[in-house]
Amino acid sequence: MILDLFRLDGRTAIVTGANTGLGQGISVALAQAGATVIGAARRSCQETAQRIQAFDGRFFEVLVDLSRPGAVDTVITRTKELAGRADILVNNAGIILREDAMDVSEENWDKVINLNQRLVFFLSQAVAKEFFFPAGGGKIINIASMLSFQGGIRVPAYAASKSAVVGMTKALADEWAAHGIQVNAIAPGYMATNNTSQLRSDEERSASILSRIPAGRWGTPEDIMGTAVYLASKASDYVNGFTIAVDGGWLAR
Ligand code: NAP
Repeated sequence: MILDLFRLDGRTAIVTGANTGLGQGISVALAQAGATVIGAARRSCQETAQRIQAFDGRFFEVLVDLSRPGAVDTVITRTKELAGRADILVNNAGIILREDAMDVSEENWDKVINLNQRLVFFLSQAVAKEFFFPAGGGKIINIASMLSFQGGIRVPAYAASKSAVVGMTKALADEWAAHGIQVNAIAPGYMATNNTSQLRSDEERSASILSRIPAGRWGTPEDIMGTAVYLASKASDYVNGFTIAVDGGWLAR
């Protein structure tokens, strides 16, 4: 039956940045579909764990600063210890630093590129090597952005990193589709999370963003839950290298 294709029973998903925002929503969604979720985060995922345990779902936390050397090894080693393997990787953790291009230091540029771009590649590579190639398949979901397609305002490193995410999604899909690994991305629109708290507290920017969203509201983590389950499941087995915008129509305008 068609809805069975969306079930994730028996699968294990690694979700980075699972403690809050979109990562928390994605973790809850994958667990509701039946997956065991390993949340990799630098702060406690207690709230996410509680939400998942409330419906008897399975969640494990791996506390790790993903911007530090050795983070990829930590995620792989702890996943093996906790669940033996992984079938799904969601590269969700990301940071945004807002400053004029003229003021961006090399340090800040590297911070953003390191987490949003470099980690996405090397964690995908390690998870594919360790778990997906031996098992003959897997799913990678990268979290892109509207700034994978647009320049944004005062966020040049973020726009560069999120444009790279869409490129990497296609490059990895090209190489790994033949091995049963689907690599796709979700480009969220303007969502009410910590990532946009600065924007939402600026009355003028907030009103101008809201007026441009055809759906007439900011998105929420719940809005990307269905797309995440779809891309993590058998229902998307012939979808490769594509970025799905979940943006209330922002890109259509
Ligand atoms: P968020 O609440 O700021 O979540 C970002 C997540 O990344 C948090 O869990 C954060 O942990 C984690 N993270 C940051 N640096 C880390 C590090 N060094 N080690 C481990 N974890 C780290 O915002 P969000 O909106 O949910 O963002 C999730 C993803 O969606 C990001 O990739 C973001 O770029 C993308 N996105 C968001 C929007 C939006 O409008 N909100 C739009 C497009 C794309 P802490 O809580 O400890 O900081």
